[in-house]
Amino acid sequence: MVHKVVLIPGDGIGPEVAEAARLVLDAVDVGIEWIERDAGSAALEEHGSLLPDATLEAIRDCRTAIKGPITTPVGTGFRSINVALRQELDLFAAVRPARALPGVPLRHPAVDLVVIRENTEDLYQGIEFERGSPEAAALRGELEALGGFQLAADAGVTVKPISVAGTRRIVRFAFEYARANRRRKVTLGHKASVMRYSDGLFLRTARESAVEFADVPWEDVQIDHLTARLVMRPADLDVLLLPNLYGDILSDVCAGLVGGLGLIPGANIGWEYAVFEPVHGSAPDIAGQGIANPIAMILSGAMLLRHLGRMEAATRVEGAVDQVLSVGEARTPDLGGSSTTMQVAEAIASRVAA
Ligand code: NAD
Repeated sequence: MVHKVVLIPGDGIGPEVAEAARLVLDAVDVGIEWIERDAGSAALEEHGSLLPDATLEAIRDCRTAIKGPITTPVGTGFRSINVALRQELDLFAAVRPARALPGVPLRHPAVDLVVIRENTEDLYQGIEFERGSPEAAALRGELEALGGFQLAADAGVTVKPISVAGTRRIVRFAFEYARANRRRKVTLGHKASVMRYSDGLFLRTARESAVEFADVPWEDVQIDHLTARLVMRPADLDVLLLPNLYGDILSDVCAGLVGGLGLIPGANIGWEYAVFEPVHGSAPDIAGQGIANPIAMILSGAMLLRHLGRMEAATRVEGAVDQVLSVGEARTPDLGGSSTTMQVAEAIASRVAA
């Protein structure tokens, strides 16, 4: 059977880790046919668009993609392509497992966490008003008329919408994930005490939906307290169910707990499509040097294999990563080694094929 999978190399270290993941996924030999498409700066140069229609069409056609990170210029008018892609394909659930890997020295050795992040709403939905724009001025007038709210004349505004439907589907996803993967418990993070109508709605809707999952233990915790618990006693936590912004931030905290951004894979899942990508960004500080850690991208490939129903192949890739790390055979500089990206990939690929 042939699996058609779109490969988007991305920006910065993206093409380097994408080549590494491709080497490993080819070695596992499950018949993946790669459809390579651009997004990010390569796409802008080639097609005049950061997210060309041809790339979206290819994902709609193949239904599954794996992508490297894409650079988003900070503080400019550019909208994040990653956010746009998730919204365009309605990839509403981000799944980010962070487990302690063998041979990586850690402050907390028993970490095994999964972040389930709502991926389409919240402060990342993209509803923004620039400081000084006519729209910001109109909004200022509306807010004053609606409730006497005083918005500073020089304020920029980002809106935080959280809907019942958007919450129901991510809560259901998280509880079904916990049940299917025999996880211990779900912890929902929020700040409902302050944001009553967004985080408060998230919490109330989750309480209603959780009734259907009486067999899955769960708790809710204020996000600031949850962050403290996460860094102090991460082994007490298991599946973290989070609105978009908190999910983004705590994913990186989880990455830090298990040895860094180079190790954490991710999946963006919707009803129809799935796009796999590491949690890390394009790392411009090390791009082009061939020293990026490819393990996050390779483990994203293992998640992709599992999504395709190739469970044994996924386990083989994860096992090969564990073996290479535990014997210290090849490590990139972020893990204290001196191997290149491709040396790590070759070590993993040779064990996958063995
Ligand atoms: P980053 O994740 O790119 O880098 C943070 C730090 O982690 C850097 O020091 C970097 O060298 C290191 N790092 C990241 N991945 C690594 C790897 N595989 N191996 C070794 N070290 C690694 O975060 P940033 O610097 O905040 O973001 C850079 C760009 O990436 C920004 O434009 C941002 O918008 C974008 N970004 C994209 C995605 C995505 O495409 N999904 C995600 C996050 C950030």
